[in-house]
Amino acid sequence: MRGLLIGRFQPFHKGHLYVIGKIAEEVDEIIIGIGSAQKSHCSDNPFTAGERLMMIQKSLIGVNFSKNYYIIPINDVNNNSLWVSHVKSLTPPFSKVYSGNPLVKRLFKEAGKEVATPPLFNRKEFSGTEIRRRILSRESWKELVPEAVVKVIREVKGRERIEELTLGDR
Ligand code: NAD
Repeated sequence: MRGLLIGRFQPFHKGHLYVIGKIAEEVDEIIIGIGSAQKSHCSDNPFTAGERLMMIQKSLIGVNFSKNYYIIPINDVNNNSLWVSHVKSLTPPFSKVYSGNPLVKRLFKEAGKEVATPPLFNRKEFSGTEIRRRILSRESWKELVPEAVVKVIREVKGRERIEELTLGDR
């Protein structure tokens, strides 16, 4: 059985890694869709699809993730009722979708897909919004993401990017 998880992963954090581990207990292969792939360089979506792909792949290698997986960037479309077909056109076939996002769940349910809501893991801290906030305010954030993500953010000068973009927004 192949399962699909879609997220923005801005950035990929330990909550995402935990949920992938949980999904792996019940699927043979996992498809990880990088949503809003076209977005980057803004305060809510600082990282490019390629940078997020590196974060996910290096994190899974870092934990010796044993299941086969596919990481697929997926641009948004300007029409929610067409989005599921768009996702299906880009991914390997899948029979179950895992998401905590109400819109994602609704759209896949209406398209006849089985949908499961994985358990949240320390959502207060393991949250992209919280991690971006901490990076910006120079609070400690590195313990909230896999080591590989710290390295990618360092490589692409992510803190400087978030600072410049957010200060520019204000
Ligand atoms: P996200 O990165 O916030 O979360 C992805 C998933 O990770 C969540 O569903 C949740 O199950 C899990 N997760 C997050 N934090 C967790 C934690 N602490 N513990 C355990 N699990 C945790 O991404 P999202 O907002 O759900 O991404 C949805 C994507 O789908 C977006 O890119 C959105 O634009 C896209 N989308 C596009 C359209 C369209 O183009 N019309 C329509 C619907 C959705």
